[in-house]
Amino acid sequence: MRISIRPLGDVPWDVLEDLVEDLKDLGDATLLESKDLNSDWFDEKRKQYRAEPILESLASDAGDRVLGVTAGDLYTGTYNFVFGVGRIYSGPAVMSIAHLESPDLGKTRERIAKEAIHELGHTLGADNCPNRECVMSFSNSVDAVDRKTRSFCRRCTPTIEFMLKRLRT
Ligand SMILES: [Zn+2]
Ligand SMILES: [Zn+2]
Repeated sequence: MRISIRPLGDVPWDVLEDLVEDLKDLGDATLLESKDLNSDWFDEKRKQYRAEPILESLASDAGDRVLGVTAGDLYTGTYNFVFGVGRIYSGPAVMSIAHLESPDLGKTRERIAKEAIHELGHTLGADNCPNRECVMSFSNSVDAVDRKTRSFCRRCTPTIEFMLKRLRT
């Protein structure tokens, strides 16, 4: 599939380049021009960005799937923060690198790859998975991110494969 990566605000260039590489198993990723984070998306009380309007802003971007990437802190619904949000089956996804950073750069890269694959996995029809090792397991802490792998488990793989095949034809 063709994945468009849309940087929102300042995102380190090497993070974006690593993502293109790390998403290879899912498809060919292209980096779109960076867009500013819109102040309308910012919740002044919480000092965080709302994920929903960001998803809407990404809906018209080209590509089979679009992944917005930001260093801004995101939230949605009742969560304190989220690593990302992806719509099930279609449409855009957005992720934040705000909570994923580690002094160990390799670890940071791995976490960002996992959460990017997770959100794109949603857009390919996979739900959150109860298998803690599966990339589709829900994470609300970096420990949970570190515990899971970047692979889809046996339950999730057919869903992903089915959609990837459909996008190919
Ligand atoms: Zn999820
Ligand atoms: Zn799974």
